[in-house]
Amino acid sequence: MSQDPNCIFCKIVAGQIPSKKIHEDEELLAFQDIRPTAPVHFLIIPKLHLASLAEAGPEHERLLGRMLTLAPRLAQQQGADNGFRTVINTGPDGGQEVYHLHVHVMGGPRPWKQG
Ligand code: AMP
Ligand code: ZN
Repeated sequence: MSQDPNCIFCKIVAGQIPSKKIHEDEELLAFQDIRPTAPVHFLIIPKLHLASLAEAGPEHERLLGRMLTLAPRLAQQQGADNGFRTVINTGPDGGQEVYHLHVHVMGGPRPWKQG
């Protein structure tokens, strides 16, 4: 399924829920995390609904590569010019709350909140 009507991030992709977008292209969307744990904290998601990294297969390799290579460019644009952290929470024990694949990008001067 390309979109899940009950998924909050699919609703953001569809424009049904507002978000502070920082990047959009045909395949990807990046927007500010609503509860930032660092001075810079945004999420990169595929527009395609993929519940988690555990559901990713060889057909998603290009998409995953694009998500990761977008991270440093947006981090720089957002002012994280001294490094950043990338996190992908997967499944219950991975602490995943939203089941639509997303990469957290966190940066900015420390200290940061506990995420
Ligand atoms: P996790 O699934 O644990 O990797 O975390 C989900 C992240 O999504 C959390 O950092 C939330 O603050 C963030 N989040 C949840 N709802 C929204 C929303 N409507 N807009 C932006 N960020 C959100
Ligand atoms: Zn979704």
